[in-house]
Amino acid sequence: MPCSLLNICEYDTQKLVKIKSVKLGSLKWTLNGVILMFICFMMLWNKEYQEYDSVVSSVTTKVKGVAKANIPDIGEVVWDMVDHSGQSQGKNSFFVATNVIVTKNQKQGNCPEALPNGKQCRTDKDCEKGFSDQFSHGVQTGACVKFDVLKKTCEVSAWCPIENKKKPRPALLLSAENFTVMIKNNIRFPAFNYIRRNILPEMKDTELKGCLYNPYTNPYCPIFRLGDIVNEAKENFASVAVEGGVIGIQINWDCDLNRIFHSCLPKYSFRRLDEKESNRTLYPGLNFRLARYSTVNGVEQRTLFKMYGIRFDVMVFGKAGKFSIIQLIIYIGSTLSYYALTTIFLDWLIGTSCYSKEAKQNYSERKFEPVRDIQKCFLCVSFVDKNNLRVVKKSRKKRLQETKPLSFHERNNDMASMKTLISVLHCGQITSLNGQSGGLKIDENLPSRQSNVQSTDTPLLEMPQSGSPVWCQCGCCQPAATLHEQLCCRSSKGRCITSSPLFSTLVLSRSVLETALFYVDPLAELREGAQLRHGAYAQLIRWRFGDSTPREAIPVIPSCCVWRIRAEYPSPDGNYSGLKLHHVTPS
Ligand code: ZN
Ligand code: ZN
Repeated sequence: MPCSLLNICEYDTQKLVKIKSVKLGSLKWTLNGVILMFICFMMLWNKEYQEYDSVVSSVTTKVKGVAKANIPDIGEVVWDMVDHSGQSQGKNSFFVATNVIVTKNQKQGNCPEALPNGKQCRTDKDCEKGFSDQFSHGVQTGACVKFDVLKKTCEVSAWCPIENKKKPRPALLLSAENFTVMIKNNIRFPAFNYIRRNILPEMKDTELKGCLYNPYTNPYCPIFRLGDIVNEAKENFASVAVEGGVIGIQINWDCDLNRIFHSCLPKYSFRRLDEKESNRTLYPGLNFRLARYSTVNGVEQRTLFKMYGIRFDVMVFGKAGKFSIIQLIIYIGSTLSYYALTTIFLDWLIGTSCYSKEAKQNYSERKFEPVRDIQKCFLCVSFVDKNNLRVVKKSRKKRLQETKPLSFHERNNDMASMKTLISVLHCGQITSLNGQSGGLKIDENLPSRQSNVQSTDTPLLEMPQSGSPVWCQCGCCQPAATLHEQLCCRSSKGRCITSSPLFSTLVLSRSVLETALFYVDPLAELREGAQLRHGAYAQLIRWRFGDSTPREAIPVIPSCCVWRIRAEYPSPDGNYSGLKLHHVTPS
C-alpha cells in the first residue's frame, strides 16, 4: 500500500485517565443523574418528542342584534345589523357602529365654512377665491359671511349645510354592547391532514343556539356578546363606543394529536389593538363617513352619516404536535453535550485545590504528559576546557562552534553509573567478558582496535594535526557539511579530549561498551558494529553531559570525538548518517 494511503487509514483516539475514587465516582453519577432528570423534564415539559405543524384557517362572522336609539335630527329609530355594520372592513374582521353624527338634507350650494377647520375673517379680503386645502369642506368663493352671531368665516361652495357637530357623549348606539357575534373558524393542519372547527362536534344544535361565551362557564361557545369581548380586553365599552377602536379576538389552537393525550380545543383571548389614549394619537378611534342620496323636487339631496364604531379583528394562531421518533432522536442527540458539563466540573474540581492538594498533584502528573517540541532545536555543547554546559539555539548562518550560548548550566554528572563502570573495570572482569562464549559472534566481523587504527585510510592521531578545519581548536576534527556538525571539543586552542586516557577507557573500550550494553539488556546479542558505535556515543554523552541535558536540549558530540569513535567502530560500508536533530546521537 502506498505510504500516503497508509497515513489516511489511521484512527486517533483520546487517552483517558481513570481515577479510582469513590468520592469523584459518586459525584460523577450524581451530576449525570441530575442532568438526565433535567433533560427528561425538559423533554416532557416542552414536548420535544413531537413534530409540529402550523395552523391554516378560515373565519366567518355573523353579528346579530337590534336596538332602539334616539338620534338628533332623526328621532327615535330602530337600528339593526344592516344599518350599523357599515362597509365590509376586510378579511377576518367585522365592524359594529357605536356612535353617529347625522347631517340631514345636504344640497350643493354656498355656505360659510365650519369652525374650527375654516379660519375666521373680517372682510372679503381675508378670503381667497378658489382656495381649498386638506381640511376644507369646499372651495372658497372669496366672500366673508356670517357664521353665527359673533363670528364670520369665508364662504365655500360645498354640500350645505356643512357637518358641524361634536361627537355625542355618551355614544348614541351604546346598546350595541348587547349584540352578539357568532364566529365560525375552520382550521387545518396540513402535515397531519387534520381538520377541525371551533363549533365542536359534541355540541348540539339546540345547545348552540342558546349559548353565550363565558371564559369560565362556557369557554367553547362560539357566540360572543360584544360587551363581554370588550370587557375581556380590559376596556370599558361605553368609553370605547364614543370614538371607536379596534379589538382583537385571538383564537389559539394548541393541539396534541397523539392518541392517548388527544386534545384540540380553541382558546379565546381578547385585547385592544389600537392606541387607547385618545390625546396621544392624531386621529384617535375609528370612524368613517357614508351618505344616503335622495332627490326632492328634482334637486339631489344627501344625508351624511359619520359613523364611529369598533372593528373586531379575528386572529387565529395554532400548532399541532404529534410524536415523531426522528424528533426524539434529534432531541436526545442535542442533549448529549450536557454530559460534558460533568467532565468540565470534575476537571475543574481536581484542578483547583478545593478537592485535595495531593490529589491535584497526582492527577495533573498523570493527566498531562509533557512532550518535547522538536521544532525549537536547542542544542547542548560541552567544551572540555570549560566547566559548564552551554545551551545554544540551532543557527542557520553560524557554525555551532561559534554560535553564542543562550544559557550556561551546571554539569550534572551521572556518578552512580560511572562508579559502576569503574568498579567493573577495576575488578578486571572485562577480560573475561571478551572470552565468554555466545552472543559475541560480532567479534569476527569487527576489526580489533589495534588493527583498525592502522588499516583506516584517514590517519586519526590523538595529537593536533595540520590540515584540520578553521573552526577546529584541537587539530583532530574533520570537515563537516552541516553547520551544526562543525563543533570542536575545545573553545580555545589546546589538547584534544580524545588524547585523554579516560576517553580510551570510558568511550572506546570494548569491555566497557559491552558492559554498558549488557547492563541494559543482559541477554543482548552483538550483531553489528553500529551497536558498539552507538554505545560509545551514548557513553561519551553520559560522561561529558551528565544524565540530563538542560532545557530539553540535544547534546552534540564534537567532530573529533565522532571521528575517533567511527575509526574505532567503523560502519562496514563507510556510510554514516550524521547528526539528525530529532536523534540524540549521530549514526
Ligand atoms: Zn577540533
Ligand atoms: Zn578534539
